Amino acid sequence: MSVQSVIKRESVDTKRTKIIATIGPSVNSYEAIEKLIAAGVNGLRFNFSHGDNKERTQQIAWIRKAAQLANKPVAIIQDLQGPKIRLGDFAGMITINKGQSLSFAYEADYENTGHIPTQYDLSKKIRRGESLYLYDGKLRTTVTSVREGVVFVTAENDGVLLRRKGINLPDTDFGGDIITAKDRADLVYGSSQDIDYVALSFVQKAEDIQLLRRLLKSLNYDVKVIAKIETKAAVNNLETIVREADGVMIARGDLAVETPAESVPIVQREIIGLGRRYSVPTIVATQMLASMTNEPEPTRAEVSDVATAVIIGADCVMLSEETAAGQYPIEAVTTMQRIITYTEEHMPLSVSFPVENPDHSRQAAISQAVIKLAEEVQATAIVAETKSGATALQIASHRTTIPLISVASDTRVAQQLAVVYGNSSYVRPPDPLAAIKLTDWMRQKRLLHKGDIIVSASGRYPGVVGTTDTIKVRVLE
Ligand code: PEP
Repeated sequence: MSVQSVIKRESVDTKRTKIIATIGPSVNSYEAIEKLIAAGVNGLRFNFSHGDNKERTQQIAWIRKAAQLANKPVAIIQDLQGPKIRLGDFAGMITINKGQSLSFAYEADYENTGHIPTQYDLSKKIRRGESLYLYDGKLRTTVTSVREGVVFVTAENDGVLLRRKGINLPDTDFGGDIITAKDRADLVYGSSQDIDYVALSFVQKAEDIQLLRRLLKSLNYDVKVIAKIETKAAVNNLETIVREADGVMIARGDLAVETPAESVPIVQREIIGLGRRYSVPTIVATQMLASMTNEPEPTRAEVSDVATAVIIGADCVMLSEETAAGQYPIEAVTTMQRIITYTEEHMPLSVSFPVENPDHSRQAAISQAVIKLAEEVQATAIVAETKSGATALQIASHRTTIPLISVASDTRVAQQLAVVYGNSSYVRPPDPLAAIKLTDWMRQKRLLHKGDIIVSASGRYPGVVGTTDTIKVRVLE
C-alpha cells in the first residue's frame, strides 16, 4: 500500500493537486458552498468582473463557516477585473468583411457618428501597426491610425460584432497602468474582508505586481498576490513575474487570444516549471471541464486536460463558469476530484525536481534534506512547522508523493497553504513542540498509526520567520 493511501483511509481530502472553484449564481447558497467544500474544493475565487459586494460579503461568511465546520482551511481569492476592455452599447449586430475599415471611440454614439463605442479610451494607449482583437479574438484587426480620440483599424477577417464584447490589445504597452479605478475600489472593499489572495489580471511585467503591493500596503490589506498570465508581454517576462508573485495563474482564456492558442500548452509547462523552481504555487485555469457547464459528463479531452495538469505538477486546477454559472457545479468538482485522485494513484511518472540551490539558502537546503530523509525512511508524512508558509512552500516544490502536513500559527497562512501541492494545513499556537503535539493528536484521532514514520522540520524559535533548523525522525508508538 502506498504511503499516501495509509493516510487516505482515514481522512477526507489528501489529494496532492488542489481544486479552486469560482463563486457565482449557481452556488449562491450556504448549502451549495458546503457541498463544494465537501466535494473537494480547496480554494474559492470571486471574479470581480461579476457580482456585487453585498452578495460577496454574505458568500465569504458562508465559506468561512462551512470551512470551519469541515475543519478544512480554504483559500479565498479576490480576482480583480483589471483593464478588461469591452465594446460599449449599440443596437443589433455589426457584420464586418475582411479588408473593411472600422473606427472606435470612447463611449461613441454609433448611430450618429459611425464610430463603434468602447468602454475605455483606447486612443490613449494604442499605436499604429498594433493588433486589436475583438470578441475573444474571433475578429482580428490592425490599427491604421489614431486621430483625435478615434482609433481606425482594418479587419483581417470576416466576422460580426455584438455590444459589450471584449477587446484584446496584445501589442499595447499599458506602461504600468493596469490597475483601474474599479480595481482600486474593489481593493478597498477586499481590505475589509477575510481574503487570502488577490489575483491581478492582465499583468505585463513584475513592476505591475510591485505597484499592487504598494497599494495593498497603503490599504493595510494583508494578502498574497497571484499574477494572472494572460498577455503576450507577460509571456515575454515570465521569470521575473513568477519571482515577484506569491502565486501564478495560467489564465488560458485571454492567453489563447493574446498569444497563439497552440503555444498555451507549452507556456503552461514553462510556468509550472518556474513555479516549482521558485516555490510559487501555480494554477491552471479556464475551460478545464467547460462542457460540464451544460452537461453532466465531461468530454474525453477535458478529462485528459485535468490529468495532464496533475501529471506535470500544477499546484491547482481551476473551475470558472462550470461552478459559477453552470448547471452541474457540484458534479464538476466531484469529477475533477475523481480525475485528480485516479491520476495521482496511477501516475506512471513522478514529477522530478532538479536539485538547485545556487544561493546556498539554508531554508532550501533544509527542505531538500527533509525530502531526501523522508524518502529514504519511507516516511508516512512530513510535518513542517511554518510561520510565513515559506518552509511548506519549499518542501511542496519538490513534488514528493509523501503527504505534507503544515502546522501554522496563523489562520491566514493555513488558508493560503490550502492551495499548495500535497499540503494539508493545521493551525496550532506557536510552540517548540507544535509538530510533535500535532502528530500526537493525529495519532489519537487515528489519522496516523503505530509504526508510522514522521519526518518533521521545526525551529528553535517558533513563530519567527526563517528559523527552521531542526529535522527529526519519529516512529509512532
Ligand atoms: C482567463 O482569462 O482565463 C481567466 C481566468 O480570467 P477571467 O476568468 O477573469 O476572464
